[in-house]
Amino acid sequence: MENHNPYQLALKQLDRVARKIKLDPNIHEKLKYPRTCLIVSIPIVMDDGRLKVFTGYRVQHNIDRGPSKGGIRFHPEVSLDHVKALAMWMTWKCAAMGLPYGGAKGGVACDTKKLSIREIEKITRRFTTEITPFIGPRKDIPAPDVYTNPQTMAWMMDTYSMHAAHAVPGVVTGKPLEIGGSYGRMEATAQGCIFAVDELIGYMGKELSSSTFVIQGYGNAGAFAHKIAQAEGGKVIAVSDSRGGIFNPDGLDYEKVFAFKAKTGSVKNFPGAKNLTNKKLLELECDVLIPAALENQITAENAPRIKACLIAEAANGPTSAEAALILHQRNIPIIPDIIANAGGVVVSCFEWAQNLIGYSWSAEEVNRRLKDTMVEACRAIRDISLSEKCDLRLAAYILAVKRVAEAARLRGIYP
Ligand code: NAD
Repeated sequence: MENHNPYQLALKQLDRVARKIKLDPNIHEKLKYPRTCLIVSIPIVMDDGRLKVFTGYRVQHNIDRGPSKGGIRFHPEVSLDHVKALAMWMTWKCAAMGLPYGGAKGGVACDTKKLSIREIEKITRRFTTEITPFIGPRKDIPAPDVYTNPQTMAWMMDTYSMHAAHAVPGVVTGKPLEIGGSYGRMEATAQGCIFAVDELIGYMGKELSSSTFVIQGYGNAGAFAHKIAQAEGGKVIAVSDSRGGIFNPDGLDYEKVFAFKAKTGSVKNFPGAKNLTNKKLLELECDVLIPAALENQITAENAPRIKACLIAEAANGPTSAEAALILHQRNIPIIPDIIANAGGVVVSCFEWAQNLIGYSWSAEEVNRRLKDTMVEACRAIRDISLSEKCDLRLAAYILAVKRVAEAARLRGIYP
């Protein structure tokens, strides 16, 4: 029976790299544990006058390389172990990309589909107030994640700023442009993912412009991946959201599918395409499969039936450890989440830097810097995978964990 606890998966991944690089056991022990776990109660008077208490979390995994950084997720399945795993992955992601951050993550266990905008705003503002002593532009910088967006970040920035009694744009990233957001941040995760696919698919003798794509999840990461893959000449043959998927071997037009979802709330029943389940979608024949929804979508159960040539993990933790092994044996490379979806945090770092210096870069400048950062990381992990004869995930972990371990060694253990 596979263990789908994301924190156990994160620990297993750390063990694997620790063995490979002969990590100092003391530093390994330190890295297994989050630095801080904060659990807060969020009492909200709902629209009908009832009081409901939600539970929120903020976990900071590590600050050896700089302040901690990571998104805020609003989802019914948010739990402490979920957030601990996501925070650890952020540490590796920031280190693999060479960003001056440690990892953090936060979330509130709630179902945004059953809440009004007013209720979501109240949850966001009360949650922000409860975690205010722990966050800040030099301490810990939240960003959007599943079911949070630029509006959520605007409320967080405003709440924090009202407590400080002055505007503090650098406390969160992923904000709207009008209040200190960065050009290119909305598309950054998907754009980074497509830059990574472009860099690595070339080594497989394929080209982005003649590749077929299957994308699971149609939110910030998934929908923009559709838009950008199509703009680069790729053919997106299937996409999905939580209600199900659609398939058309001749390709799905981004503008039309996006408008349809905006109108109906789902991609399901899109005219001219065949409906299919999320399970079937993952097993379609294609060049590039982009899981861009939740964890544990590719498991030991379905990994033997995956027919993609390359998997790019836009989502965090979509492939179980057992599934990754099966896919490696089947010669299906995976661009690991800590690289494939790092575009979001890379441009978040650019946004934060712009906020700290009080200046704004053009969209072209942001995109050029993003491309350089993605290409450099992809080349680094490819070189490591060749020299160490290992898959790209282990290569990315080797790069990241070595950097964090060296920072931890240099700083030493306090006191
Ligand atoms: P989002 O809330 O914008 O979209 C999530 C999408 O997933 C929605 O379309 C939803 O319908 C779909 N979904 C939910 N449950 C599903 C299921 N069981 N099957 C299929 N689809 C399902 O979230 P997002 O920001 O796009 O995040 C998606 C993934 O990308 C997450 O794993 C997140 O951690 C990761 N990620 C996002 C960013 C970012 O900048 N947004 C950065 C790095 C990683």
